[in-house]
Amino acid sequence: MRPDILNPLFAETETLDGVGPKLRKPLEKLGLTRVRDLAYHLPERFVSRRPVANLDEAGEGEQVVIALTAIEHRASRTQRGPYRVLAQDALGNVCALTWFGRASYSAKKLLPVGETRWISGRLDRYGDMLQIVHPDHVEEKDGASLARLCEPVYALSEGLTQPKVIGLAAQALARLPHLPEWIEPGQLDRAGWPGWSDALHLAHKGEHAAARDRLAYDELLANSLALLLVRADNRRKRGQALRGDGHLRARLELPFPLTGAQQRAIAEIEGDLVQDAPMLRLLQGDVGAGKTVVALEAMLIAVEAGKQAALLAPTEILTRQHFETLRRMLAPTGVEIAILTGRDKGRARESVLMGLLDGSVQIVVGTHAIFQDSVAYRDLALVVIDEQHRFGVAQRLRLASKGRAAPHTLAMTATPIPRTLTLANYGEMDVSRLDEMPPGRQPIDTRVVSQERLADVIEGVGRHIGGGSQAYWVCPMVHEHETEDIAAAEARHAMLRERFGDAVVLVHGQLRPEQKDAAMERFASGEASLLVATTVIEVGVDVPAATLMVIEQAERFGLAQLHQLRGRVGRGSDKSTCLLLRGEALSETGRERLALMRETQDGFRLAEEDLRLRGGGELLGTRQSGDAAFRIATLEQITRLLPAAHDDARLLIERDGGLTGLRGEAARVLLYLFERDWGVQLLRGG
Ligand code: ADP
Ligand code: MG
Repeated sequence: MRPDILNPLFAETETLDGVGPKLRKPLEKLGLTRVRDLAYHLPERFVSRRPVANLDEAGEGEQVVIALTAIEHRASRTQRGPYRVLAQDALGNVCALTWFGRASYSAKKLLPVGETRWISGRLDRYGDMLQIVHPDHVEEKDGASLARLCEPVYALSEGLTQPKVIGLAAQALARLPHLPEWIEPGQLDRAGWPGWSDALHLAHKGEHAAARDRLAYDELLANSLALLLVRADNRRKRGQALRGDGHLRARLELPFPLTGAQQRAIAEIEGDLVQDAPMLRLLQGDVGAGKTVVALEAMLIAVEAGKQAALLAPTEILTRQHFETLRRMLAPTGVEIAILTGRDKGRARESVLMGLLDGSVQIVVGTHAIFQDSVAYRDLALVVIDEQHRFGVAQRLRLASKGRAAPHTLAMTATPIPRTLTLANYGEMDVSRLDEMPPGRQPIDTRVVSQERLADVIEGVGRHIGGGSQAYWVCPMVHEHETEDIAAAEARHAMLRERFGDAVVLVHGQLRPEQKDAAMERFASGEASLLVATTVIEVGVDVPAATLMVIEQAERFGLAQLHQLRGRVGRGSDKSTCLLLRGEALSETGRERLALMRETQDGFRLAEEDLRLRGGGELLGTRQSGDAAFRIATLEQITRLLPAAHDDARLLIERDGGLTGLRGEAARVLLYLFERDWGVQLLRGG
């Protein structure tokens, strides 16, 4: 249960003055539903304004405070058009004050014709006139105090204004309870950080680096604590030691010898499985590094020990592909493998469920359908989670409740992330890295081509598929609405289909699963030779005969994502090519990203560079992907502060694993504050 002391923070925003049903929506759009969220809605930047006596003194683009007298109101003829007030300065220079939408209603009252007001805002040019769009302030007197102000600028959504958010944030701050300190006093002193509530006040008031760091540290500490509590809880659980005698593994007829890295990973897993405490291991390996075989060996150990194993995949497509691959490899062993997804219904489903219950199905591959309540296992001892980054920690925990004793968990991810971020996301796990590619891979010939040469590129694709090879064509996800992206992909598909006919198929996120599978199957079987897709192909699809990839507007993708996409080609023994089409307006970072793609194929290196290029200001926007979600800490802060936060969390748990001491109690409050309560809940369970 959340400590009562936090109640004022978790009250809904509607409990604040001035928030009714109307304001609720725009706040929700920004993810602000509770007082807590507003307190943590930190300004994006701050502006200071210069008082000017007249418009001649002001520069375009400058934030100013100026006295202006209204001379004329101009309502728009259309309802959606702007409402303009023409106003003049002391010299008679005219400037337009412009409002859009609902805000225009207030303009009339704010600026009656003939009256003088202090206006603050950004001076811009509109045609041959100067204008201020949505002035931040319109005041009758006291222009001087506006000028002194170093004012926060908040992220807004439609229906919100800066003054409104400033007011709400102030109300939220006024409600901050007095919380016990969870950061060690020594650390606080050394870093020169303010206390929690001071830090929040300061962070809303100005560019206060120490305050921002403290708040980021809080978030990182909460995250590490929660992960380490999961780990500690896991250590306490009784699992079942799995000892395989090797008889099934010996029957595998792999067409290749395992790489050193694969052998190492398997040995590490084997070492974990013979322990009583359940394994919690992450297998990190770039696309194509050969994680599937490692998973297979691990699952066979479980089966040799007389138990069941399950492999969880994030998508239908990937599940089917895994099932086919594994079934082929398992054929000489006689091991019974089944598939279970949300789409399997009726008799087939019943028979798989029976098999899982009576133990005749030894390995099951599926989507999260395999962990629904209606699915019971005879003796599930190992869970392998493919493409772990698609699932959240909380989900991972739910899976663990399936076995009779806690099952061993092997999580796999092909997203090469920097070491710090591995710690932030998977701090509760042991890590095996596949840092060696299977031999014989040819480097992918990567070229950057201007989007203007689209016609040439299409000709090239024509020659490629004309010669019997296959290709991917990736359309970006860049628009605000997914539907726009899909429309763009559909248009490209239609265009390429006109040119190449039936051989072109389309896959995107809004197709029905059957349609998606049908398209994928046509491509995988070689019947279709060009697959047009949005980024849904990012995850694990394996078609070795596809040796060309075109990525449109490649500069819009992050390095890590480009790397993932490119990993779809270069899977067979033939030379592969990746064409990165770039738009005209290429930023410096965009240019550097594409250059790096040309230069290296090492995913871990690209991940580190990605981190460097994304730099300080940008938040780690990975909420959807199930990675640890940081809303306060920036990438730069994660890199700089996480190692210390993680050590701190480890020390605290070593000293006070039940979080019952003074600092432990404070740490509980912190966990609830950042909604890592799944961490605390394990305490009572254990
Ligand atoms: P990922 O790590 O991306 O899941 P996969 O397990 O799908 O990679 O393997 C990619 C390809 O490499 C597959 O076709 C697989 O058969 C092949 N492969 C895996 N291990 C080896 C190896 N040791 N030597 C040669 N090929 C391998
Ligand atoms: Mg894979």
